[in-house]
Amino acid sequence: MFRSAAFRACSSLRPRSAQVARGFSTSRCIRSDAYVPTSLDTFTEEEQMLREAVRRFAVDVVGPKVREMDENEKMDPSIIKGLFEQGLMGIEIDPDHGGAGSSFTSALIVIEELAKVDPSVSVMCDVHNTLVNTIIRKHGTKEQQDKFLPLLAESTLSSFCLSEPASGSDAFALQTRAKKEGDHWILNGSKMWITNSYEADIFLIFANIDPSKGYKGITCFIATKDMGIKIAKKEQKLGIRASSTCTLNFDDLKIPVENVIGSEGKGYKIAIEVLNEGRIGIAAQMLGLAQGAFDKAVPYTYQRKQFGQPIGTFQGMQFQIAQAAIDLEAARLLTYNAARRKEEGKPFTKEAAMAKYWSSQVAQRVSGSAIEWAGGVGFTRETGIEKYWRDSKIGAIYEGTSNIQLQTIAKFIEKEYS
Ligand SMILES: Cc1cc2nc3c(=O)[nH]c(=O)nc-3n(C[C@H](O)[C@H](O)[C@H](O)COP(=O)(O)OP(=O)(O)OC[C@H]3O[C@@H](n4cnc5c(N)ncnc54)[C@H](O)[C@@H]3O)c2cc1C
Repeated sequence: MFRSAAFRACSSLRPRSAQVARGFSTSRCIRSDAYVPTSLDTFTEEEQMLREAVRRFAVDVVGPKVREMDENEKMDPSIIKGLFEQGLMGIEIDPDHGGAGSSFTSALIVIEELAKVDPSVSVMCDVHNTLVNTIIRKHGTKEQQDKFLPLLAESTLSSFCLSEPASGSDAFALQTRAKKEGDHWILNGSKMWITNSYEADIFLIFANIDPSKGYKGITCFIATKDMGIKIAKKEQKLGIRASSTCTLNFDDLKIPVENVIGSEGKGYKIAIEVLNEGRIGIAAQMLGLAQGAFDKAVPYTYQRKQFGQPIGTFQGMQFQIAQAAIDLEAARLLTYNAARRKEEGKPFTKEAAMAKYWSSQVAQRVSGSAIEWAGGVGFTRETGIEKYWRDSKIGAIYEGTSNIQLQTIAKFIEKEYS
């Protein structure tokens, strides 16, 4: 099933081993492949092949560009092209529409492996696959699927446009309005914090067609940039700086009536549903990020000597490293457990919220510790460790803040116990 992505990824990659160790100083051993899961035997052979292929793409192709993209706050177009060429932008899209026809777990593996090297590239792939592609696969008409899925799988980056200046956590208080005029909808309003929007050409936009109905007026539209979507501002951020985040303005944006996704007034349900899944994607991103920081810093602790011995052999360091390894294992179990539940058709909303919350916390903790384990060099931009820590902060904010995840979990507990 999944063979096409793994095959495409494996066959077109040429490992360049010299670049593997580039991230840190050349004399120090960095093994981005240091972690091989032994306690989790639930991955299929195909999933493991995919992991290996994506790891090679991430290390060999993305790795050499990470620092430059971060410093320039710009995604290199060759990385976007590379992701499409490797079949990593249509992971769950049916092969008839140009995708790999693979599983949700496979998407998470891709997101996790990319995040080990660059969380910016990871979130670009995540939003495109787990939000936009999923909505069109699940709710698009045959005509919409025939028209957009091949583009999304093969060439065209996309954005998910829900948040606005005045509606973040309270997303369904959105102010963007849509009015029907003949065979078009006319959209007016603006969206804020939209990932991928600087490079994207396909946009899913949530707008209210009847504010008197409250959230039941929210409708999902599919639009293309050439319809007149304007980028008002590109944010300068603390982390994931290569991932574009923009404010978009819609001034009488004209969208054909056939571009409503699902049906009128169903946008709320579509967004809630996809964000429940999407949160597992962010959990995978944060898990990969934390593992990437761990893999960079820990080998250094066995090479760097102070007081006549490797710093990693002092008990004070050993215990911190062991604690981080436990945190990582728990994040991994929560993330893939939530994914498997979703795939098996079991309820997973609470588990997804737990996975996202925990992985975000672990990402901050482990990447913060990794800086300290490497001492002064960990604090420099040369090592790339500090970037993981900057990038980790976003995990507690997007696709529902940590407070919102706790609120979701608490609601389930109340239902179960009251
Ligand atoms: C880099 C980046 C990329 C993003 N990408 C996208 C994207 O592609 N598409 C998109 O639609 N959106 C995107 N977002 C928006 C993101 O989902 C929102 O920023 C997030 O939902 C939080 O909204 P807010 O920023 O308005 O914060 P607010 O909602 O104002 O929250 C501020 C603080 O108040 C707390 N808070 C709010 N309500 C409650 C409550 N009921 N109980 C307890 N605490 C509460 C929050 O937890 C938080 O700590 C992105 C944001 C960023 C920063």
